Amino acid sequence: MTTLSNCPCCNGSSFEPYISCKDYTVSQETFQIVSCKTCSFKFTNPRPAEDKIGDYYKSESYISHSNTSQGLISKLYKAVRNYTLKGKLKLISKHSQKGNLLDYGCGIGMFLSVARSSTWNAFGIEPDPGARDFATKENKITRVYPDVKTANENLADVQFNCITLWHVLEHVMDLNETLTWFNKKLNSGGALIIAVPNYTSFDAQTYKEFWAAYDVPRHLYHFDQRTMVELVQKAGFKHIESLPMKFDSFYVSMLSEKYKTGSISYPKAFLTGLRSNLKAKEAKDYSSVIYVFKKP
Ligand SMILES: [Zn+2]
Repeated sequence: MTTLSNCPCCNGSSFEPYISCKDYTVSQETFQIVSCKTCSFKFTNPRPAEDKIGDYYKSESYISHSNTSQGLISKLYKAVRNYTLKGKLKLISKHSQKGNLLDYGCGIGMFLSVARSSTWNAFGIEPDPGARDFATKENKITRVYPDVKTANENLADVQFNCITLWHVLEHVMDLNETLTWFNKKLNSGGALIIAVPNYTSFDAQTYKEFWAAYDVPRHLYHFDQRTMVELVQKAGFKHIESLPMKFDSFYVSMLSEKYKTGSISYPKAFLTGLRSNLKAKEAKDYSSVIYVFKKP
């Protein structure tokens, strides 16, 4: 295990316990999330060491990397994914000129595949070998690299118009280094688009330690709107707008119901998901938020 002694957001060194959560999908181990006493940034601490974190991704039910459909949740997930893929494509086209697109943590390459058919030049980074293999062979994304180091070696002269992270930044080990690298690799005026769960949402407050989007220890950071903007602005970006991901409250509530009670009550999960979206209208504290940043 690795213990961070400095806050990734403000560099402060004084933390207090925030919540303890169980890893429901893989290890069944319990992990602590701490809150920085200076800036209130939340992060999983201690966390598995870099050479051990891969063990926590080995699960049949970790479906974001697989394309096999089993059960109602997986079927719903896929239907919603196809719908949201179109929304994501619309969003990048609104904020960026077409050109080189990097999807950081591209998984099996679904988003890149959709973007490429709309004439974007698709590049990906994906550490999981199985997902990377699927992206290359099935989705024909030829430029997918396992990490920043390999991407640098292969893409020394390539700059991007747009970099996207769809539920990925919360998994990234070297948070500040990675954000700085995005700044270096983006063209001036380029867009950085980051979607992450939001622990201040109504569904998070309802399910507490059972909230599925804490997803410890795979989720290393737990963002709210203020800390996200502070963190990314620190790396030289300007915050443009934030948008909701309204399907996530339903999906996350279904999983959270399962963790809390052992089985899913669909009406209950649906109601919590719906209430989460309705309550978020004013403060925009949706279950998941898409942040749009630009490099000045
Ligand atoms: Zn802090």
